[in-house]
Amino acid sequence: KLSGKNRVLSFQEIEDGSHYLQTLEMERDLRRALEEDEFELYYQPIVSPHPFAVRGVEALIRWNHPVKGQVSPGLFIPIAEQLGLISDIGRWVLRQAVREMREHVTRHELFLSINVSKRQIADGSFLGELERILHDQTFNPSNLHVEITESEVGGNLYELQQFISSLKAIGVKISLDDFGVGTSSLSFLQSLQLDLIKIDQNFVKGITENTFDRALLEGLYQTFHTLGLDIVTEGVERPEQLAFVLEHSSSLIQGYHYSKPVPLSQLENYLKKVVML
Ligand code: C2E
Ligand code: CA
Ligand code: CA
Ligand code: CA
Repeated sequence: KLSGKNRVLSFQEIEDGSHYLQTLEMERDLRRALEEDEFELYYQPIVSPHPFAVRGVEALIRWNHPVKGQVSPGLFIPIAEQLGLISDIGRWVLRQAVREMREHVTRHELFLSINVSKRQIADGSFLGELERILHDQTFNPSNLHVEITESEVGGNLYELQQFISSLKAIGVKISLDDFGVGTSSLSFLQSLQLDLIKIDQNFVKGITENTFDRALLEGLYQTFHTLGLDIVTEGVERPEQLAFVLEHSSSLIQGYHYSKPVPLSQLENYLKKVVML
């Protein structure tokens, strides 16, 4: 009853009373965060290694909590999804990212990549809002990438195909995030009008110890290349991982080797330095 009428609570939450109370507190916290402007966007460069160029940035949300300090999105995004707050947060992310990156995208010929979760896709107002924001900010839609994850893809295929078609009609690009975490078949992926695949960081983690992972990653590069998809390899941290990616693909790279996600001012410094190189 406490949680209101239109709320779906999962079985575990109801069984585990402590989590339930935490969730209620979190809901109050998240609503205040939206009102009080406690969210901030960090940006992580996505680079083409050779010759070196920054090709895009992914916007990643941060929550500067007045008491708890910085809270990880890995923690609060899933809860925001469950509480039905993800559309409000997602709208804030989109508006803020487009506003902050508009000039940089033009000046440095970058794409801006945004994470969109399943609940936002299901929310009928998303597309209209997206169009309005792009129009108001005169942001070229083809410079925007919408990242969806493979697990969202596990839902209603027809609905997702429709959603992707509508995005493509606006001119926005589609990235499949965290490839390899789910279990989708290749024919399933081919049934979606994807532009880019982001290979999950677990693949790159394994390649230094594990020959099987090396073979797997090589196979993925070949397959996606054959399908004509652009590729981003995520989680590249160490030189030997970079060397492997360079040897086997023309993939773009996102990882700590080049930069962690950083606040806007630091990204601006990074872009300036790159221009001077
Ligand atoms: P993601 O979309 O897969 O984002 C990539 C995550 O990997 C980021 O974590 C990033 O900091 C981390 N990462 C990047 N390079 C490396 C590396 O070389 N090594 C390691 N160990 N990690 C690396 P972050 O920022 O904590 O975000 C976690 C997740 O939260 C994201 O995973 C995404 O699913 C979600 N998220 C973040 N921002 C948003 C948002 O605005 N909207 C939605 N719906 N979800 C978001
Ligand atoms: Ca992502
Ligand atoms: Ca990812
Ligand atoms: Ca993820």
